[in-house]
Formats: sequence, structure tokens, C-alpha cells
Amino acid sequence: MRSYDLLVIGGGVNGTGIARDAAMRGLRTMLVEKKDFAAGSSGANSGMIHGGIRYLLDDPQVTRLACLDSGYIQRIAPHLLFRIPFLYPVLLERPGEPSLKESAFLYGAECYFEAYDRYQPLKNGKAHTRLTDGELHELEPGIVPGTLGAVTMDEYGIDPFRLCTLNARSAAAYGAAVRNHTQVTRLLRDGAAVVGAELKDVRTGRAEEVRARCVFNAGGPWAPKIAALAGVTVKIRPGKGVHVTLDRRLSNYGIICKAVDNRDVFVMPHEDSSIVGTTDDDFYGDPDDLSVTRDEVEYLMEAVTHTFPAVRQARVLRAWAGIRPTLYAYGPLEDKLSRDHRIHDHEEDGAPGFFTIVGGKLASFRAMAQEAVDAVARKLGNSAACTTHQVALPGGEAPAPEAQELSRKHGVPAFAAARISYRHGAEAERVLRTADDEPELRAVACSCEGVTFAELAFSLREEFAESLADLRRRCRLAMGVCQGTRCAGPAAALVADERQLSSEAALADLTALLDERWKGNRAVLAGEGLAQAELVQGTYYTTGGLRRGGGIPWR
Ligand SMILES: Cc1cc2nc3c(=O)[nH]c(=O)nc-3n(C[C@H](O)[C@H](O)[C@H](O)COP(=O)(O)OP(=O)(O)OC[C@H]3O[C@@H](n4cnc5c(N)ncnc54)[C@H](O)[C@@H]3O)c2cc1C
Repeated sequence: MRSYDLLVIGGGVNGTGIARDAAMRGLRTMLVEKKDFAAGSSGANSGMIHGGIRYLLDDPQVTRLACLDSGYIQRIAPHLLFRIPFLYPVLLERPGEPSLKESAFLYGAECYFEAYDRYQPLKNGKAHTRLTDGELHELEPGIVPGTLGAVTMDEYGIDPFRLCTLNARSAAAYGAAVRNHTQVTRLLRDGAAVVGAELKDVRTGRAEEVRARCVFNAGGPWAPKIAALAGVTVKIRPGKGVHVTLDRRLSNYGIICKAVDNRDVFVMPHEDSSIVGTTDDDFYGDPDDLSVTRDEVEYLMEAVTHTFPAVRQARVLRAWAGIRPTLYAYGPLEDKLSRDHRIHDHEEDGAPGFFTIVGGKLASFRAMAQEAVDAVARKLGNSAACTTHQVALPGGEAPAPEAQELSRKHGVPAFAAARISYRHGAEAERVLRTADDEPELRAVACSCEGVTFAELAFSLREEFAESLADLRRRCRLAMGVCQGTRCAGPAAALVADERQLSSEAALADLTALLDERWKGNRAVLAGEGLAQAELVQGTYYTTGGLRRGGGIPWR
């Protein structure tokens, strides 16, 4: 039986972050994820490495930690972070005629933003500014006219899927055993102590046991279920959050809007699309079975329309949901719950060797992982220092190469080269070198977002991607406007070729991707979106180039 110092359960940002830190400190580490990296909350969030201005009054320590860690994350993954300045417009009940109360509100808001400015240097953010109505409309003409002006706020965004993959890759580079599509089904005990786990390969059904001196439950919304395997109770207050993706970049800035119940909702540019988010509702269901209702979508769209009517010009591409593994409290409204985190050492509950982490933010994942590994290291007598704030993630070691140069040297279109440079940083050359001996990999597979076959092949060969759904997370395959109509077939053929799949297995993989896309479409199907969905169905389920029994030719 294989044996480790630490077994980490869950390949979200917390699990991958813990595995990386532990491996870097020399602990013999294994990371297992039942689906894929960032397939849970870590891939269903707003992708903001933000400072958490909302928590400033009630939980200033949460804001401070997020700002501090945001600064470190910028240092270790400079290629992956992008700046998103936000606008906070103050609307008037009677446009152009501010009441005393409304004027007082703007001054109050400005004081609040001024307090947040004190934390901005930690994350290289600029101090807020106040804009007049005229200045606001010069920046974003689509905002309703006659406002009292706006306050600005400087934040950062990231692709959370890539962040988790890079953590997992880095853990592996430091010697960790890393396995996605591997589920913990049972915990091994020696008396009271947790000493390992039974693992099931979800694709083959094969089971094996591994031993570990410590086991860390980083299961996010699944953490209570995993804790139950050890006979201990972990209580969270799960909160469902829905986002909507629009078919184009509607604004250059993030815009904070007020929903009908006065909650803050935003619209912001992300890659070639815009994201509207988010709801926050208590959730009592199964995190493996999430769906979005039309009401949730309309709530978000109404909120944005109120401030930014131009939003209705866009087509809603899809809606998606995630569950916040928020700390338990009885009483507060969902929005008011603390975003702090907690690390449980279950020795106190009679299960020595077993730990759980819950709560927190994507933006402070690195610091949370450090605290988690400190707890394990104390137990195991490991005194190595944490260096995850100093050592770059893959691609962050040096400046990203210039896109024109990449394009010229490797013969890929400039728009695709620019994208590879941003998403892979210093590794961009390495990604494109996969096409040196196979020039056909230089072709663009997904023309909506400029995803090349080279990127897909790199993720299949170097980034633990096994399926089309994994490639969607690594490379944004099928995330663009056509939602897979053009790219899913050719990409399925590449996966079949790389993994030597039978045509039945390749078809099953393709169907799984389309089914997953369908889940995101079904709450928003109308008009052009409906026509789009019908086109995908027609392409892949009837006439498409899938030859049963004969393989899927792509070259
Ligand atoms: C709607 C929404 C918006 C958010 N926006 C932001 C934001 O903008 N900025 C920010 O900082 N934070 C944000 N957050 C919070 C942030 O996303 C979460 O705090 C964070 O992703 C939690 O990560 P995690 O690793 O604990 O959980 P997860 O990412 O859910 O990871 C847990 C993993 O465990 C795996 N797993 C479960 N059971 C098993 C098992 N038996 N064996 C193996 N693996 C298992 C799951 O498949 C899953 O991948 C948001 C959250 C939501 C839901």
C-alpha cells in the first residue's frame, strides 16, 4: 500500500493550494479530486481576486487577509491576473435632482471607499476617485442618465480554473501524487486515528487504499459529507450563487448595480464575454445536482437593467451556479454571513490525524493553505518554512512573451498568440512547441475565443486533462459564443486520438460535454439562444462527422 505524510481530499483552490504548499515543504503528499480541478465552487465563482470591501465593517480581518494575499497571488501568477476597475454609480429617484438623503449617501459611500483605500497598497490597487455624472458617462455611456456620479474601486480578476490547475501542476512538480477523477469513498482507521483512505478511480471503478499520517478534508460544500466518513460533524451554511454569461463585452469596467431588494449585483467584462452576478441564497440540496431557474436569471438581469439598460442588447449565453461553503451561523441574512475561514483539527472531536478547512475566499486561498499546512506540519514535526508567496506558479517565473513575436515564430494567428501569452505566461513558448513536429496543432480549434489545438494538446499531455469537459475548464473550449457548435467535434477527435479512445468512448465524451453545456443553457433558452441550441443538437446528434465504429478523423 502506498504511504504519504498528507492526503488532501478535494481539488478546489483550497485543496490544490494545500497540496502545493505541503509538497514544497517536503511533505510526501497526495491530492485527490473526484471530478476535476475547480469543478466545484472554485470554478463557479466570480473569479475575483478582490479585497472584499463588503466585509470591511463586520470582518475587517477578512478584508485585510484578502488584500494581502491578492498582492502575493499577483506576484506568483502575474500573467493570469487582470485589472478590473469597478464603478459604483449612485442613481437618483428623480434623475438630475438629488435629494439631501441621496447626496448624503454619496458622501457616506465615499468615506467607506476611503477606508478601503488603506488596504489598496497591499494589492497594488489604486485609491478610489469620485466621478461626476458627465465623467461617468464618458467611461460608460450605457449607464442610465442623470446620476449623482460614481465612486471607483480598483480590483483584480483571474481565471480560477487555471489557478487551480497551476497549483496542482506545481504540487506535482514538487513530488506530490496528483489525481483527478479519483474519489475518496472511505477513510481508514487505526483505532480512533484516521490513517488513510479508500480511493475509487471514477472512470474505471478501480479501488485502492492509501495510507497517510494526516488526511485533510478540503471538500468545500462537500466537506460535511467527507467529515461524516470520519464520524465527525462539520457544519456550514451553504449559499447558492448564480452567474449569467453574456455573449459580448458590454462594458470596459465592472459596474455595481442595485437589485430590486437593494443587494449589490455586478456586470463585468471577462475574456470575450460579460459576466453578471451573483445571487446568494441558502441551499439545502445536493451540491452535485445544481440547476438554475429562470427567476434567478431574471433577478440578475433586472438588477443590471436598472443601472445599465444596454445589458438587454446582449444575448444570455448560459447561467451557472456554485455553492459557497460559508461558515455556519443561525440568524444573519445570507449576504451578511462572515466570509472568514476555519481550520478544524478533529483530534478535538476524537479523530486524530483528520483536518477540515471551510469558508474563506478564492482571494485568500494561499494564506489559508499556509495556515492549514502549518497545522499539519506541527503535528508531523516538519519545520520547513512556507514559500508559496515567493515561488512563482508555472508560467509566472518570467514576463510573458510578446504576442506578435510568438505569432511570427510559431505561425499561429496573432489573436491566438496573445491569448496563449496571457493564459500561459512564460510557458507560452512551451505550449506552442508542441506544434513543432505536428504543425496541424497550430490551427485554431475554437474560433470564438481563439483556442488552438496546441493548447488542447498541451493540457492533455501536461495538465491532467482527460476529457472534453476537462479541456473546457483548462482552455475555455466551448465557452464562447457558439457554445461548442464549431469546436466540440474537432476537439473530440483530438482527445480520441491522444487517448486512443474507441469511437463509442469518444462519442460518450462529446455527449458529456454537450449535456453539461445544455444544463447551462436550459434556464436561458429563448430567441437566438434557442436557435443556437438547436444547431448544436443538429450538428452533433444527426449529421455531424462522427462515424460510429470508424473513429473520428481530425487530421
Ligand atoms: C457564486 C460564488 C461566487 C464567489 N465569488 C468569489 C470571488 O469573486 N472571489 C473570491 O475570493 N471568492 C469567491 N467565492 C468563494 C470561493 O469560490 C470559495 O471560497 C472557494 O472556491 C472554495 O474552495 P474549496 O477548495 O474549499 O471548495 P471547492 O472548489 O468546491 O472544492 C472542493 C472539491 O472537493 C471535491 N470533492 C468532494 N468530495 C470529494 C471526495 N469524496 N473525494 C475527492 N474529491 C471530492 C469536489 O469535487 C470539489 O472539486 C465565490 C463562491 C461562489 C459560490
